[in-house]
Amino acid sequence: CGIVGYVGFRNARDVLIDGLSKLEYRGYDSAGVAVRTERGLEVRKKAGKLAILAGDLEQQPLAGTLGIGHTRWATHGLPNDANAHPHATEDGRLVIIHNGIIENYLPLKQGLIARGHAFRSETDSEVLAHLIEEKYAQANGDLEVAVRTALAEVRGAYGIVVTHVDHREIVAARTVSPLVMGVGDGEMFLASDVPALLAYTRRVVYLHDGDLVVLGQDGYRITDLSGNPQTRELHHIEWDA
Ligand code: GLU
Repeated sequence: CGIVGYVGFRNARDVLIDGLSKLEYRGYDSAGVAVRTERGLEVRKKAGKLAILAGDLEQQPLAGTLGIGHTRWATHGLPNDANAHPHATEDGRLVIIHNGIIENYLPLKQGLIARGHAFRSETDSEVLAHLIEEKYAQANGDLEVAVRTALAEVRGAYGIVVTHVDHREIVAARTVSPLVMGVGDGEMFLASDVPALLAYTRRVVYLHDGDLVVLGQDGYRITDLSGNPQTRELHHIEWDA
């Protein structure tokens, strides 16, 4: 439902919780974040209001300057902690967030289970974590190629956000579900809607259907799902949220 991503110099937890709070109007049933800390990619996720997650993060903070966050509106699987996003691979080295519906998740899931993957949620979304993990190994650690080749097997609507412990980058892609990037100085933002960004930057780039973007703290590059470079207009937002 709501997506926020951040890579830069600020405390990622603050940007994620603040950004997700600006997307609460959309409605949701659970919330979660993954932050790249010195221990790896750490996931916190909770059913219920964002305040529950925020309270948990105040009790036990996660320190890091790259993170992704989600507010979930369940379509596949109950609204509980396990089904909340982000979803991680079994080794915890790769995490994903997904908005939308993966229509062919059942055959994908059966294939992944047959190849030894263990699932921890009932969501359609979790197949993306395991599928990208397989493609990542085949692509010799190229995260962008891994996301692109995984998406070639996926049918449905998605805004997805992916990060891997070995890459200080966020890879995102969209089909049908909206995604917008916020451009800063030495920091980059991503969200499902502009209000999540406005406290930090007024420079935004709307991603088009079929766009895949790699965000690092010093910039971004956009391609289509075949890998061809794309140029998208930089907009300046004048209005207030
Ligand atoms: N289909 C996914 C789920 O049920 C994503 C829902 C959403 O867009 O929040 O977990």
